Amino acid sequence: MPRLCFGCNAPLYRGEEHVCTVCRNQLPLTEYTFNAENPVDRIFYGRINIIKASAFLFFTEKGIVKSIIHYLKYKNQEQIGSFLGDWYGHILKENNFLNQINFVVPVPLHRKKLRKRGYNQVALFAKQIATHINAQYIDHVLIKTANTRTQTKKSRILRWQNKQALYVLSDQDIFRNKNVLLLDDVITTGATMEACATALSRTKGINIYIASMAVVP
Ligand SMILES: [Zn+2]
Repeated sequence: MPRLCFGCNAPLYRGEEHVCTVCRNQLPLTEYTFNAENPVDRIFYGRINIIKASAFLFFTEKGIVKSIIHYLKYKNQEQIGSFLGDWYGHILKENNFLNQINFVVPVPLHRKKLRKRGYNQVALFAKQIATHINAQYIDHVLIKTANTRTQTKKSRILRWQNKQALYVLSDQDIFRNKNVLLLDDVITTGATMEACATALSRTKGINIYIASMAVVP
């Protein structure tokens, strides 16, 4: 079996990993930094109290990024998260703003979903980034309490959030006065990040940063 590019399905040449050279060069990097205001910040204005938001790539309905993330989430290609996290981690490391991050937290899956998929698709991405910025990866504190469908509309998530917390913290103290970077795969409406950040924000003195593999432009 030849190894195939997760972006375009072309056979990979020796020395190529995960994506072919053509796709690698075509990956739509946002080039948003944590220093200047960007459109990801604007998604969250007036919704949650975060310090900064950013994203690594642009997600479009057709194209390389959609294909790569599809393999990552639905085709057992967990290592793609590591590939993206290593690349984005290199970029973030150059960003002095993020040198003070204490904890890196992936958006959690419900335990049933985790069992079914076998891995959290954000875990390796988050671990790589944590390594690059000298922060601690931590995935047992932020917990998802209900197994909602992935395509849940923003209004439904918020309604749920109002009735009972969709995300909760197992430890109310660990993030006290700490800088926490929350990571997800794709930011679309921002509803998932908003729900997670709402749970995190119950900790006193926490500073929340947000980033994702990709953002829908
Ligand atoms: Zn390719």
